[in-house]
Amino acid sequence: MIISFVREYYFYTVVLSIALFFVLEHIICGRLLDSPRKNRWPHNIGLWLLNSVLAAMLPISAFAAAYLAYQSGVGVLNNVSLPFFAVVIISVLVRSFAQYCFHRLMHGVPAFWAIHQVHHSDNTLDSSTSLRFHPFELALNIGFLIPFVVAFGLNASVLLVFELLLNLYGMLGHSRLPLPVRFSKMMRYVLITPALHRLHHSEYMPETNSNFSADFSCWDRLFGTYLDQSVRAPGAFKVGLSEIDERLANNFDGIVCSPFNYWAEQVSARRVRGIDRSHARSQT
Ligand SMILES: [Zn+2]
Ligand SMILES: [Zn+2]
Repeated sequence: MIISFVREYYFYTVVLSIALFFVLEHIICGRLLDSPRKNRWPHNIGLWLLNSVLAAMLPISAFAAAYLAYQSGVGVLNNVSLPFFAVVIISVLVRSFAQYCFHRLMHGVPAFWAIHQVHHSDNTLDSSTSLRFHPFELALNIGFLIPFVVAFGLNASVLLVFELLLNLYGMLGHSRLPLPVRFSKMMRYVLITPALHRLHHSEYMPETNSNFSADFSCWDRLFGTYLDQSVRAPGAFKVGLSEIDERLANNFDGIVCSPFNYWAEQVSARRVRGIDRSHARSQT
C-alpha cells in the first residue's frame, strides 16, 4: 500500500519537496548575496528536468532491476530466509555503500570527474544544488548500482523508499537551513550532515576529496575520507571549483557541454605530448 503510493506519487513528492525547501530557504535564509538564485536556479532545475526525462526514457532502473531479480530468484537476499527488518538493514547498507564507491569513482577517474564536476561547479550551495547533476552521471550511477542490486538481491520496495528519503536528505544536505549546532554534531556520529557535505563542496581539493557518503558517515570513517572541519585558515573556505568561474558555472549550454570540452582538451593535450615526444626522439 505505502509502496504503491510512493511509486505513484514519487515525482510529485520530489516536486513538492523542492518547492517546500525553496520557500523555506527563501523565508528563513533570505537573499543569497554571493550568487543570486535567479542566476543558478534555472540551470539547476533545468538539469533536474533533463534528468527526470532521461530517467523515464531509460529502459532500466535500480528499482526495476531489483524487482526483476526478485521475480527470477537471483541474488543473496532472494535466496535466504531473513526477517524483514534484516532485509531492510542489508538493502539500505549495501545501497549506501555502493553510492559511496560510485562517488569516489567519480572523483578518482579523470574522465568521470569531468562529468561530476558539474555538481561541484555550483559556486554557492542551497537545496537546488542537490538537483545539479549531469545526465551522464545519472546513467552511470544506474549502471553502477545494478550489479550490487542484483548480486545482493536488494529489496525493490526498500530501495524505492530509501531513494525518496535520500532525495529529501540531499536537499537538506545542500540547503542553508540552520540546524542546531549540538544536534548537528550529534548527527555526525551516524550521518553526513549539511556542514560535512559543505566541506565536500570546497574548492580546495584535499577537502573536496572527503566526506563522499550521501548518507551514513561510517563509510568515510571506515575508509579514511572523513573530515569534520576545514583544514584551511579561518575565512579561506570557498565553495565551487577554482577553474570554473561564475560566468561558466551559470551557463546551461556550458554546463551540459563541459564534459565534452574537458575530454577534447585531454585528447589534444595527449596529442601535443605525443608530437613533443616524437620531435624529441628525432632530435636525438
Ligand atoms: Zn563529489
Ligand atoms: Zn553535493
